Amino acid sequence: MVSEFMLQQTPVHRVLPYYEFFLRTWPTPTDFAAAAPDEILRAWKGLGYPRRVQYLQRAARAIAQRHGGEVPRGLDDLLALPGVGPYTARAISSFAFGGRVGVLDTNVGRVFARALFGEPISAAVAQRVADQLAGTAQSAVLNQVLLDVGATFCRSTPRCDDCPLSSACAWQRRGGDDPAPTSAAVSRPQARFVGSVRELRGKVLAHLHEGPRSEATLVRVLKDDRTPEVLVALEREGFIERHQRSWRLATNQR
Ligand code: SF4
Repeated sequence: MVSEFMLQQTPVHRVLPYYEFFLRTWPTPTDFAAAAPDEILRAWKGLGYPRRVQYLQRAARAIAQRHGGEVPRGLDDLLALPGVGPYTARAISSFAFGGRVGVLDTNVGRVFARALFGEPISAAVAQRVADQLAGTAQSAVLNQVLLDVGATFCRSTPRCDDCPLSSACAWQRRGGDDPAPTSAAVSRPQARFVGSVRELRGKVLAHLHEGPRSEATLVRVLKDDRTPEVLVALEREGFIERHQRSWRLATNQR
């Protein structure tokens, strides 16, 4: 579950040291549920998208309160945890517990649209196919293979010459436009990061990781008029708090 939260938006090689640190520092959901917010935010520094660690802690608290500190096995119980969507719930079910459910991410969505259909498909069709294929004894292995084919060969720019599915691939046979970009289960390219509010939020948090800062200092250092509204948003979301005449990372759980 920890790795799935970290791997949303972040590649494996960057996640590995964080994953090991988190499991070493907080070996159980109950340990993590009790950690201070500024402590976990500092541990997450550098991974990006810090909402993920907030949700991971909320999920840990729900596990501690509702499930006796054990990650639940059932898909509905997993889906009811904060920050756990269909992909994450299915990945935990399949890889941690051997559940016979299809794990559909954007990589697998591309493989299905290209290799199985050769035309654009809806998210519902992709999930149905994933679940049908996963109804075998080796569902966790199959899910992993599909994720790997999508991440290694059937990328946005596909490497068809090396792909193990090339002789059976529907798009290879049919030709025509690439069906992946217009398939509902495949994500679109992200908006530009440089100059975005997301980048500014990261810079504000990076400064507050070093210690409390006044708003005037942050505006001066960051040279960005959007800083005050970013501070208000980060406070509302529980990342930071006012301390005397400065801002600092939040120390109390909400
Ligand atoms: S042959 Fe090409 S398009 Fe077909 S599944 Fe492999 S990488 Fe994707």
